[in-house]
Amino acid sequence: MAKKKSKGKKLAEKLSYKKKNFWEKADQALKESALAFNDDYRDYLNAGKTERKVVEKTLNMIKDGGYDELTDQTENGKKFYKVNRKKNIAIARLGKKDISHGFRLIVSHIDSPRIDIKQMPLFEDSSADVSLLYTHYYGGIKKYQWMAIPLALYGTVIKENGESVEIEIGDKEGDPVFTFSDLLPHLSAKQYKKKLNEAIDAQKLRLTFGSIPYPDDEVKEKIKLNCLNILNERYGIEEEDFISAELELVPAFSAKDVGIDRGLLGSYGHDDRVCAYTSLKALLEAEQPEYTSIVFLADKEEIGSEGNTGAKSNFIIDFIADLIDFSGHNSSEKLRKILRKSKILSADVNAAINPLFSEVYEKQNAPKIGCGVTVTKFTGARGKGGANDANAEFVAEIRALFNKNDINWQIGEIGKVDEGGGGTIAKFMAEYGPDVIDCGPPVHGMHSPFEVVSKGDVYSAYLAYKVFFENRK
Ligand SMILES: [Zn+2]
Repeated sequence: MAKKKSKGKKLAEKLSYKKKNFWEKADQALKESALAFNDDYRDYLNAGKTERKVVEKTLNMIKDGGYDELTDQTENGKKFYKVNRKKNIAIARLGKKDISHGFRLIVSHIDSPRIDIKQMPLFEDSSADVSLLYTHYYGGIKKYQWMAIPLALYGTVIKENGESVEIEIGDKEGDPVFTFSDLLPHLSAKQYKKKLNEAIDAQKLRLTFGSIPYPDDEVKEKIKLNCLNILNERYGIEEEDFISAELELVPAFSAKDVGIDRGLLGSYGHDDRVCAYTSLKALLEAEQPEYTSIVFLADKEEIGSEGNTGAKSNFIIDFIADLIDFSGHNSSEKLRKILRKSKILSADVNAAINPLFSEVYEKQNAPKIGCGVTVTKFTGARGKGGANDANAEFVAEIRALFNKNDINWQIGEIGKVDEGGGGTIAKFMAEYGPDVIDCGPPVHGMHSPFEVVSKGDVYSAYLAYKVFFENRK
């Protein structure tokens, strides 16, 4: 006979908030769907190591779905996209309700921390008989994590005549890779005494690029010349072409299952391609959305959403204005009003409690890996500085939506108060007037070359974004 629950136990069950682990809660079918979903996500990660590659892969995914490029000439259709300078993309589906009732938008970012190549990068170090490339890191990285790992080189070189040359070296079978060689422990006595953030000077991030001299004794820098010659033969470029190039170094390894039970997925660039992929899939697979639904994959979040491809640019607002005009309204009259009626999820990752450094998290308010997509009311640092801080009314709405649809979700903030902090795109979107809240899977090892997410959280994010678009009550 089952033991009767005590009154207090029943009361505790009724009144207390408890996080639920996805795998504990999910039935077999849901678990299998989650695992299959992550297999496709793994392919997206491997194909999209830079913002340009993500846009390419995204265009591939929507190409058979009836999506048309939205231009001034567009006369009909219900599904649209627009690409901005090959580095970001907005995709929309018109809803059952006219756009004048407002829209639903999920914004994420497709740039990830990395190391860029400088504009005049190649030099030869005769003391070591190697040629190297000067670099400049992009976004918040811990430099020591990028030493002594294989790196792939991706990017675009624009020649003086406008011709574009694509470079992708390091990820294909048989490709060479590149690396920053670290100091051997035997000679690290001084380095060991430095602070962790000073142990690797940014100027020391010089990439090993070549080592074989060009066979001609008349030439001074033979190794450098040999490298230039290879680049010229293979890509038709010269040294000056580096000036108008965007070349990025990213880890030269692919996404891998992590753990004996394969519950986690490790990869470069989960932040924030995990939200890009899940929101895109949610948009593509949502049943006819009630409101006009938009996915925006932004660039430059890792350096403050700056520039004409970042979320602070007018691109997304222009796209929305175009949708309003297309729907038969005058956007110059209606845009502001429609923005105020709209709702946005700022889809970005949060920091799951890392068991190796659990002292920096406040356990009750930090997200746990595997316990669902994380809703974050506020981000920021030092007294919520730079935070969006979503209104309680909107938090309640999202909470109700997710609960009614049985989404595995958790509330979560980034670390203890005054331990550090961070920001997202949320605050830039909120400036236009809509309701905005942060919502994305939690990760271990954020901004490292190998970030880790729970496959359950990835799937929960997808389901959460889908019900947001479907507005399923
Ligand atoms: Zn991010």
